[in-house]
Amino acid sequence: MRSLYDLPGFDVSILRHAFFAVLAPACNAALAQPPAAPAGVCGAPAEQPVAQLTPLVMQPGQTPLPVRGGDGRYHLVYELSLQNFSGERVRAERIQVLDGRTGAQLASLDAATLATRLVVRDRQAVAGEFAASQLRILYLHVVIDHPEDLPVMIGHRLTMTSRDQTVTATAACTNVAPATGLLLDAPLRGARFIAGDGCCDSTRHIRATLPLGSTAYDAQRFAIDWEQLDPRDRIYVGDPRQPGSYVIYGKPAYAVADARVIAAVDGMADSPIGSLPNLTPDKADGNHVILALADGRFALYAHLKPGSVRVSPGDTVRRGQLLGLVGTSGNSSEPHLHFQVTNGPSALMADGIPYLLREFRAARRGVSTAAYDKATTDGNPLATVPLPGPAQHERELPLDLWITDLPE
Ligand SMILES: [Zn+2]
Repeated sequence: MRSLYDLPGFDVSILRHAFFAVLAPACNAALAQPPAAPAGVCGAPAEQPVAQLTPLVMQPGQTPLPVRGGDGRYHLVYELSLQNFSGERVRAERIQVLDGRTGAQLASLDAATLATRLVVRDRQAVAGEFAASQLRILYLHVVIDHPEDLPVMIGHRLTMTSRDQTVTATAACTNVAPATGLLLDAPLRGARFIAGDGCCDSTRHIRATLPLGSTAYDAQRFAIDWEQLDPRDRIYVGDPRQPGSYVIYGKPAYAVADARVIAAVDGMADSPIGSLPNLTPDKADGNHVILALADGRFALYAHLKPGSVRVSPGDTVRRGQLLGLVGTSGNSSEPHLHFQVTNGPSALMADGIPYLLREFRAARRGVSTAAYDKATTDGNPLATVPLPGPAQHERELPLDLWITDLPE
């Protein structure tokens, strides 16, 4: 007995002949008159759902956890995996993010935008176009202006083209968690700290999905590399090969909440400045501390200065307690504090989650990641632009490259 699609070796290329022969009429009709957003896109399936063959399959990853950013808006940063199940090349033409209950469109990404957000490790890959059987991760950032509009569920309507045929399907329905209420103190104190590679469209942390133990983790999804500017907006002053030239080097890092220390590693040297050392994952964080916060949340402080770690595993620490000093040990190209919060006790084998800082001030931000990198390497003042709105912030997450004054 064979079931309907119990294919020999699951060779989807067998499907492709039937694929568009079956679907072309329906999909052409859909193209001629795009359907309105269906209500309840994530509702119970119809009694007899239409069996539509689609070359791309979407799967949701972690449940999106919205966070209120310093701009007063709510940010959903999450991923979908998309895989080409066919033997043909397939283009992702459009993805609409839909409120799963109402069908309202929350975001729409065209082909050009998708090409920049569909990440694949294969350097030969064509942007936005799936090779046969290829898997890509789609890194999404959806912004909701008002908390009352936050969805409790979202779905994704994908339009794809293969062999000049275009089809659309809605899938990857996933719950959305309530916006985070995890309220923390800042890990540093003082003026002009830059939230480098932060939320929500930077790439170096957010796209650092790693296959560990045959599971994909994105522990750095909401990580920030904190740097600091001097009064003339310079990241370092003097010899860039000396860690002590960096304004942030040696600054104290503090417990962001009452917590238990579950990891405290010291004894690694600072890494040479200017390039990333080729370290194994277990050495990547250098000297570091991991705190177990309440409710299964964990905070990592990485790349601490040699000999500076003041706590030991098993210690209980109070909010504001000194943990260690900022350094450049481990997988670090210059002194900075890598700070992240995750849903598990590992620095890498966990998923990154957002949080709120109790208070901070921010009136400017770095112009771009390129400008930030330039200031980091050439020692010239960082190019900045003013931020709109009041400088005082409470219960918000500083966004990418925001220059923040953190409470003393
Ligand atoms: Zn980092």
